[in-house]
Amino acid sequence: MDDQRDGKLVHRPRSKAVRLAGSHLITTCATMAAILLFVGLGSQVLPSAIAGVELPASGGSLKMAFILNIAIILFGWRRSKDLSEALEAHERAERSAHRNANTDHITGLANRRELLRSLSEVLESRRPGVLLMLDLDHFKRVNDLHGHMVGDQLLRAIADTLRGAAPPDCCCARIGGDEFAILLDGISNEGAEDLGKLLLARLSTPFRIGNIEAQVSSSIGLAAIDHGGSEESALHRSDVSLYAAKAAGRNCLAWFDEKMELELATRLKLEEDIRRGIEGGEFVPFFQPLIDLSSKALVGFEALARWRSPTGLLEPECFIEAAEKTGLIGPLSISVMEQALTEARTWPAHLKIAVNVSPVQFRDPTLAAQIVKVLAATGFPASRLEIEITEGSLLEDRGQVTTILQSLKNLGISISMDDFGTGYASLSQLHTLPVDRIKIDRSFINTMVKSERTAAIVNTIASLGHRLNVPITAEGVETESIRGELSKLGCTEAQGWLFGRAVSADTVNSFLRMGGGQRGDEHPSSEESTGDPPGSADDQRRSGSAA
Ligand code: C2E
Ligand code: MG
Ligand code: MG
Repeated sequence: MDDQRDGKLVHRPRSKAVRLAGSHLITTCATMAAILLFVGLGSQVLPSAIAGVELPASGGSLKMAFILNIAIILFGWRRSKDLSEALEAHERAERSAHRNANTDHITGLANRRELLRSLSEVLESRRPGVLLMLDLDHFKRVNDLHGHMVGDQLLRAIADTLRGAAPPDCCCARIGGDEFAILLDGISNEGAEDLGKLLLARLSTPFRIGNIEAQVSSSIGLAAIDHGGSEESALHRSDVSLYAAKAAGRNCLAWFDEKMELELATRLKLEEDIRRGIEGGEFVPFFQPLIDLSSKALVGFEALARWRSPTGLLEPECFIEAAEKTGLIGPLSISVMEQALTEARTWPAHLKIAVNVSPVQFRDPTLAAQIVKVLAATGFPASRLEIEITEGSLLEDRGQVTTILQSLKNLGISISMDDFGTGYASLSQLHTLPVDRIKIDRSFINTMVKSERTAAIVNTIASLGHRLNVPITAEGVETESIRGELSKLGCTEAQGWLFGRAVSADTVNSFLRMGGGQRGDEHPSSEESTGDPPGSADDQRRSGSAA
């Protein structure tokens, strides 16, 4: 029986089987000896018995020995039969234990341990080979939506698809929750890529589980076996390529190359830095003014995360995506929200605070409770808080998103649909969500005076807002002419560099201390407005870091 010690497979003697086999051998030998004796004794006793001749006086003990001999043979035969049955049962049990230890119990595929064993065989044989690693995209959603029973059935159906497509006798393994591997022994790179493409196509067609149609797709990483490396390094290489396939947008395959390793290391370091930064309070809110378009008055601020990293002040484009991928966006956004509301609770009561919530945060059913906790901890009134969601939230579990939004609304918090027009929300979906405001994405606003098409889009969104009785905010207002157009279209609020960039809490506090925010058209601005053309990333970075 195999055993794992220090990560290596070692062989343990089958002590019980050896004992059984030993007893079986002894019993068989004793029975054979008894049979030989039987032949010898029989040759003396039987002829006299058949001829009806009385045996001499010593013949009585000869007869007794003969009968005893028959008894020994019968006993030996019986014992030998029992022992061979016990030996068979033991071997069956051993085979099944071996199978269980090397098999994934949900899908019946090989497990990680068996894959490592097969990998070591391929590495020893020095045959060419490719390790294909496959990860299901959004499998968690199936589990969340339909429960684990359906999830398990789907995994079994996927295992069947892999077995059906892979060459016979190759090792197909399930090596994680929704992660699979196929060790393609003696295959060319072209052959491996063809299999990868076939799997992508087969797995992206919906699976029918009972009366449920489950849709997943997959990402595939391929790495040729490097015979100079170990089993673990082979796994690592295909894992790196899998990561690259996911980063490239999922539902695709990627081959390992050395550059990827560097990119992955950089990414992992960024994730680690974000984790450390959250713990160290390095993520802080900056505040960008929100303006009432008709009166030009300041009506509040949007809190935007900035990272005071050891290398300088960083903007969301450097960290939000990585934080979303690792699930760190939840603690990051909540920490920014808590700091923003702590600052803003002493600000004039007519100023609202808008905070951003990522679609990923809606996967956490405790999101509403976390926001309530922040309100309780900071004493900030719910009625002055606006939560900005994006259309990506519609791709999450719709029931959960609606429940969370409804709970927030019941507390008096308003909800606004941020970056409207860039995502997946159709107009019909919009009115099924409890949304109080639409924020038109800045990509439309920036170009509306130059392009008739975008002007028409802004016009349509504005009239939709009127019809649904949902006020509209325009973000990214950089010029007077755009502001004029938006007023004509009936947009109510605006935000953009024309009115002010995102500035630190200290800047807002000094602005408010000097009486700002009371009169109509004054807004805090970053002290270092240089007159550079607004819009460049460098420009905005400079404005943020010095504020
Ligand atoms: P957003 O919520 O749409 O925020 C508005 C973005 O537009 C901000 O970029 C802001 O600086 C920028 N902006 C405002 N006015 C103008 C303008 O006139 N011209 C131009 N070119 N840009 C303008 P920022 O701060 O880089 O934030 C980017 C995105 O990061 C935000 O987009 C939001 O989706 C996300 N984000 C920021 N902070 C957080 C946070 O705490 N949590 C989460 N989940 N997301 C955040
Ligand atoms: Mg926003
Ligand atoms: Mg936005």
